[in-house]
Amino acid sequence: MRNILSLTKEEAEEIITSWGYPRYQASNLFKWLYTKRSRDFSSMTDLPKSLRERLSGEFRIEYPRVLQVSEAKDGTKKYLLSLEDGEAVESVWIPERGHTTFCLSTQVGCRMGCRFCATATMGLRRNLYWWEIVGQVLRLLEGTEGRVNIVLMGMGEPLDNWENVSRAIGILKDWMGFSPRRITLSTVGLLPILRRALEEFPNLRVAVSLNFPDDERRTKFMPVNKKYPVGEIIKTLKELPISRRERATVEYVLFKGLNDSLRDAEALALLLKGTKVKINLIPYNENQAFPWKRPPDEMVEEFASALRRKGYSVFVRYSKGNEIKAACGQLRTSWGKGSQPQGN
Ligand code: SF4
Repeated sequence: MRNILSLTKEEAEEIITSWGYPRYQASNLFKWLYTKRSRDFSSMTDLPKSLRERLSGEFRIEYPRVLQVSEAKDGTKKYLLSLEDGEAVESVWIPERGHTTFCLSTQVGCRMGCRFCATATMGLRRNLYWWEIVGQVLRLLEGTEGRVNIVLMGMGEPLDNWENVSRAIGILKDWMGFSPRRITLSTVGLLPILRRALEEFPNLRVAVSLNFPDDERRTKFMPVNKKYPVGEIIKTLKELPISRRERATVEYVLFKGLNDSLRDAEALALLLKGTKVKINLIPYNENQAFPWKRPPDEMVEEFASALRRKGYSVFVRYSKGNEIKAACGQLRTSWGKGSQPQGN
């Protein structure tokens, strides 16, 4: 039986009208599935009983299954979720002051090859379908109260799977009440697709993962830099149609001895001159698979102060959930086969 969440609205309309029901019943169905998050056709009381019976005879409603949940001392929960073909992805539930942030995956693996990322070691296994991206939200919303923000910063490069990511954002926006202002897309800088994404969703928040202030080091650690070098990224940041209030974010992961000197801070400040950005500094989350180290907190603070002195808004993002492998791909890549799903 097909998972009904994989139907587009148009497909749902086609099926429902071919069964002799009016087209608007597809809208009612979507409200039940996404707005009210119903898991049971029989509870969809404003659909005719005969339609509910037909739907439950031909479709099931299934969210990604929970393989594992790890909870850190700070309350961050990392979910390993299984997809219908047996692949697994990570989603992270992060408690913040006044709201919750969901960090979602967009691909199984990734082909960008960043040399500090556990997900990169898998290569790209496949793109997530749009309903699998929405499915992560539906799963994480269970038991969540209050305001939720979404960051597309989990496994995968969202712009390398834009078609599905765009459809998922459409469902989140149209049926689940998420303004694109509450959704942040994090990219290594696939610039032509980034421009397209902002044409489609002008209010989408954007974060560019820069990490190195020059081409030599960035290319060494982030091969995508060969195609979209630092200068092109900065030029694009200057041109993006983003209002001052909604500034783009530049993410800069700090690695001990690689990019964390005061000279690097000066170079970054100079590079970003003329852009309207805020800077997120992220001390590296150490991982056994890589030799890179996290700088001491004093170095991080000095780096941040050097940028602030130049007038930038700087936020230091100490990784939440360190002890549960909360950095992208760490849980998935260490996951052993044979783990059993929990829930349904
Ligand atoms: S850091 Fe992001 S873009 Fe780079 S390999 Fe990892 S998942 Fe892909």
